[in-house]
Amino acid sequence: MLITVASLSLVVWLTYAWFHSVALQDSERSGKTIVQRLANELLISVEKFEHLPYLVGAEHVLSQALMFPQDRQRLADANRYLEFAQKRTSVMAVYLMDIEGNTLASSNWNQPSSFVGRNYRFRPYFQTARHGETGRFYAVGATTGEPGYFIAAPVNLGKHVAGVVAVKIDLNVFEDRWRAQDLRIAISDEKGVLFLTTENTWRYRSLYPLSKQVVSLLSQTLQYGQPTPMTLINHEGPKPSHRMVSLNVDGTPYLFQGQTLDGLGWQLMLFSDPAAPKARALLVAELVGMGMASLLLLSALIWQYRRRIAERQASMRERALVVAELEQRIANRTSELTTANDAAVQTAKLALLGQMAAGISHELSQPLTALRTLSNNASQFLERHDADNAHRNLRLIGELCARMGSIVAELKTFARKEPARLQPIALKNVVSSTLMLIEPIRQASGTQVVSSGIDGHVLGDPIRLEQVLVNLLRNSIDAMQAQTNRHIEIGAHSTADGLVCISVQDQGPGLSEDVQQHLFEPFFTTKPSGQGLGLGLALSKAIIREMGGRIEAVNTCPGARFNLFLQPVPATKPHARPTD
Ligand code: ADP
Repeated sequence: MLITVASLSLVVWLTYAWFHSVALQDSERSGKTIVQRLANELLISVEKFEHLPYLVGAEHVLSQALMFPQDRQRLADANRYLEFAQKRTSVMAVYLMDIEGNTLASSNWNQPSSFVGRNYRFRPYFQTARHGETGRFYAVGATTGEPGYFIAAPVNLGKHVAGVVAVKIDLNVFEDRWRAQDLRIAISDEKGVLFLTTENTWRYRSLYPLSKQVVSLLSQTLQYGQPTPMTLINHEGPKPSHRMVSLNVDGTPYLFQGQTLDGLGWQLMLFSDPAAPKARALLVAELVGMGMASLLLLSALIWQYRRRIAERQASMRERALVVAELEQRIANRTSELTTANDAAVQTAKLALLGQMAAGISHELSQPLTALRTLSNNASQFLERHDADNAHRNLRLIGELCARMGSIVAELKTFARKEPARLQPIALKNVVSSTLMLIEPIRQASGTQVVSSGIDGHVLGDPIRLEQVLVNLLRNSIDAMQAQTNRHIEIGAHSTADGLVCISVQDQGPGLSEDVQQHLFEPFFTTKPSGQGLGLGLALSKAIIREMGGRIEAVNTCPGARFNLFLQPVPATKPHARPTD
């Protein structure tokens, strides 16, 4: 987490630093363009008037005024001419001075601030022009108090300089223009004094400290009036160039750029706000930071989501393992229980055998006695040549043997130890074989048997299930012997707990409470001696239990219903192919 925050901050900081430097370069480029454009505009405006004093000085009326300075008429002509020139060129003033610096005529001759009669010998531009050169000078007007740029040219009479014509140009308009463009500009003269600037508090001050000579010169020439200029920065600093540098002016930070105005010796300076590139860089850094933070947040969310899924999968795997383990334990336990159960069943069978021994001896002793009697009688009949009676006895002997054989056969079922081999069996087939087996008795008894919904498959042993069903049907037929309406219904349906229930419903007398209590006990029978052994239901119960199912008897008033609950087999499972 800490590392993430640290790297995020680092990236944001680097972005800021990089974009700040880009923004600074951008500012420098645009600053340079501005500086060059402003310098050009200024130079063009000034140069436009460079030749004006020469042109004006060449006028005849001015030479006349110089030659005849006492002549009022000639001076008046000169005044009017200068006034005309000033109006046509829109300069502030145009005026003529004699060689001593006395103003002979001026465009503002008829105004209170007229220059006429004033001496400007002390002005450097006059001195320069007097010596035959072009004089240039920016100064605050000694008469008007208005600042202006002065350009002066010599006026020759013959080969000698006889006077000077000076033009005063208004440069203040530039300040307004710069302000309108929202620029912070200052122009310093060759001495370093800021004379044109958008900042009123900077005017006639210097950017860096001025030398003593310059200070005294300024107080002599009164170039910018009084007092002596103060400095904005009290130590030397970088010269203005196209290269942008940071500069603190009066406690305010600026980005400083500029250039020299060739020919004038002035410096044009541009002061821009360092907050702008900073703000741009900050905006980009913020966007990048926010973007990265969102990205991080998103990846954190994705990571968390994936982890949750992985956790869920892991827990599912774990659960599957637990389930598998549990199933294994259940299987082990089941097999343990099955073994125990088998043993219990075996024990029960042995106990049953004890019970049965008594029953069997009773059941078998009767037919055995009968057998002895019948066989004795049969031999006597044979001795008497009574073949018919001998035959009858022998048939009866055969029947008794068959009966005893069936008792023994049923006992075998009890004695078997190996568990029933269970397999998927189709109910339809089991029921139809059962009906086939029972058909002779059904017909003889005149019973109607209806089967419906016999479908699907169960797990079991088909032969033994048939045995159970035959038992049930036979009991029902027996139960309805005394009545005329003999009707049995066989049905099958799935139960709520996923088993298959096969039911046999009759319309007989039903089951009394006493009968219900002993129904499944071996040798319990209500049938007359010789008709029932009372083993049918006891056997059926044992058989169904071996198939993993159960049997129940319900008194339905009228009639009785026997339900067999068995394990179902999904018919679609390939390994559980039903026997057809
Ligand atoms: P058995 O048929 O030899 O008597 P079972 O065990 O099959 O032996 O039956 C026991 C007894 O249960 C029968 O004797 C009879 O009293 C009673 N019983 C069985 N089925 C029915 C039935 N459908 N209706 C009435 N009683 C029945």
